[in-house]
Amino acid sequence: MSTTNWHERAAALAIDGRAFIDGFRVKARSGARFDCLSPVDGRKLAEVARCDAPDADAAVASARSAFEDRRWAGMAPAKRKRVLLRFADLMLEQRDELALLETLDMGKPIRYSLSVDVQLAQNCIRWYAEAIDKIYDQVAPTGEDSLALITREPVGVVAAVIPWNYPMLMAAWKIAPALAAGDSVILKPSEKAPLTSLRLAELALEAGLPPGVFNVLPGYGNEVGSALALHMDIDCIGFTGSTRTGKQILQMAGQSNLKRAWTELGGKSANIVCADCPDLDAAVEGAIGSIYFNQGESCNAPSRLFVEASIKEAFLEKALALLPRHMPGDPLNEETVMGAIVDTIQMKTVLGYIDDGKLEGARLLAGGRAARQDSGGLFIEPTLFDGVDASMRIAREEIFGPVLSVLSFTDLDEAVRQANATPYGLAAGVWTADMSKAIRTARALRAGTVHVNQYDNDDITVPFGGYKQSGNGRDKSLHAFDKYTELKTTWIRV
Ligand code: NAD
Repeated sequence: MSTTNWHERAAALAIDGRAFIDGFRVKARSGARFDCLSPVDGRKLAEVARCDAPDADAAVASARSAFEDRRWAGMAPAKRKRVLLRFADLMLEQRDELALLETLDMGKPIRYSLSVDVQLAQNCIRWYAEAIDKIYDQVAPTGEDSLALITREPVGVVAAVIPWNYPMLMAAWKIAPALAAGDSVILKPSEKAPLTSLRLAELALEAGLPPGVFNVLPGYGNEVGSALALHMDIDCIGFTGSTRTGKQILQMAGQSNLKRAWTELGGKSANIVCADCPDLDAAVEGAIGSIYFNQGESCNAPSRLFVEASIKEAFLEKALALLPRHMPGDPLNEETVMGAIVDTIQMKTVLGYIDDGKLEGARLLAGGRAARQDSGGLFIEPTLFDGVDASMRIAREEIFGPVLSVLSFTDLDEAVRQANATPYGLAAGVWTADMSKAIRTARALRAGTVHVNQYDNDDITVPFGGYKQSGNGRDKSLHAFDKYTELKTTWIRV
């Protein structure tokens, strides 16, 4: 670990909260702003532009003009690749500043902002940049008297609306494939964590991305977010956030210009540990590390843990022994692994679920309370409920906080049935040394990602997205290009 004094660096940081349109930092047309508060200690970080429909119109006009004159899509692929690679390099050069902004803005520990968020986000930009000159179009096998070309074209102007839990990474997952495809992008970060998105736009411009190709509009969902979803001159909207908002986005896309609408939504992922799991310690560490990582504010967090009854006591004993390591600490201390909850609303929601769990009769084994209240920040202890029944709210609804619900099972088929008995279908896990059982279970689990004898492995090369009400799209991998491109068939008589 480095010896950087992150508190000193934080105090010296000058933060610009203005929007980014057509290559310039600008105030909202109305002049409205909102305070961006840090969950680390409650201090005001910046006044951020509160964009609305007129700002959306300005950003769309800029993005449309950049798309129409082909200043980006028409640039030679090798040159576009160089610009995006430079963008990724600049992110690495500004790694400390980006990580600090992320931690101050949404509360995650600085060690992870540095080692996970900046790293994965810049790698995502780099990976799609590298793909630009490696994807070939196709010729269809139509016979000798004609030639039919199947080509990919950029879809046009893309709006990307993202959540606050991995602000920089979610931005990268949207903008990287869209920019690599040749689209113009308008990014709408969450009002709870807009700062790194705004910095990314400046770095992209510095890297050589033409003005207008990447715009950022901070503001509230029901103001600028809905203005984008309803806009008649946006061709595609990529959305990541809650299932409730995702449904509204699809409606707005349908009632406006039928823009392509892709949703990556919530989850209530099940992690099933069988008595014959190959390594109980690894299973415990996987379950505990994954639910408490990012303060439990992960869409794919394995918040429902199904443990085979015969090993449950041993499992819980080991799990409880790990909890002190996950107690919340100062997010600006590089040793801390559990940071702050994003804001007071989320804090209240999570504590409300904990109260519900107790009221509904689940057994609180650890945590359950706010922590570090003298810091002025927002912290919750890692919380573990045993004796959870599938009918309880804590077993059914996405909590999005550091709360684990333990259910036990004696029959694996029944555990799988319960695991699937949710409107969500984002991720799942199964732990067993019996590979046939593992493969059968992985096939039976209705989720976009299934982990076997691990949880939370990830790589830019694989798609990420959900079944059912966890959404209809896939981020990452070459599959993401499908969202941001149109397929064209060109018939040529020979
Ligand atoms: P949210 O739905 O409240 O907000 C997400 C974004 O939508 C924000 O930018 C918000 O301002 C905007 N928004 C809100 N209302 C809107 C409206 N009416 N019109 C247009 N935009 C609107 O979600 P959140 O609280 O920011 O994020 C947490 C959720 O995101 C969780 O459910 C989590 O599971 C999910 N998530 C999913 C993935 C995934 O890949 N599937 C990844 C991260 C987070």
